[in-house]
Amino acid sequence: MSSKHSFVIGITRLRKEAGSSMSFALSGTIADLKVVSSRVKDDQITEVSVVAESVHGGLLITGEISTRWEGECRRCLSPASGTLRIPVCELYERIGPDSRVPVESDTYRYSGEVLDLREMVKDQVLLELPLAPLCKEDCMGLCANCGADLNLGRCGCEYAAIDPRWAGLDVLAEKDR
Ligand SMILES: [Zn+2]
Ligand SMILES: [Zn+2]
Repeated sequence: MSSKHSFVIGITRLRKEAGSSMSFALSGTIADLKVVSSRVKDDQITEVSVVAESVHGGLLITGEISTRWEGECRRCLSPASGTLRIPVCELYERIGPDSRVPVESDTYRYSGEVLDLREMVKDQVLLELPLAPLCKEDCMGLCANCGADLNLGRCGCEYAAIDPRWAGLDVLAEKDR
């Protein structure tokens, strides 16, 4: 179980043969994947399908991450959920025991015979989690006046009278008369 649910890949063969590549299908759970309004549940299996290619100075990881998110619709507050499919293309730089690591670097690094993709997977999912989730594209939201779910039908409120911008125009119209 623990060996299957892991984002660690063995790279010994890739290190030995420059230009070689290997495919990996990985899956596992990742904790603390959340932004303000959406999240990946702690027990959600995130799947990672990648090809690791041995390139000069490191490994190029390309493929796809897929997982499910859930959250709260920003318009009607009902549950929202969806699937993320995130394309991946990341260079992992190999560092030796005596390498100097630049403080500012936007590449991932590794050393030794294994490479753990977990940090990269986590970063990618956090970037893609919806900040303003919708239960559906055309969600009608809630009535600002009575709070009724407008997806279930009109509530009967007089919309022109609710919106403060229109209310202001009504006042001006009165004065003009
Ligand atoms: Zn909604
Ligand atoms: Zn209403």
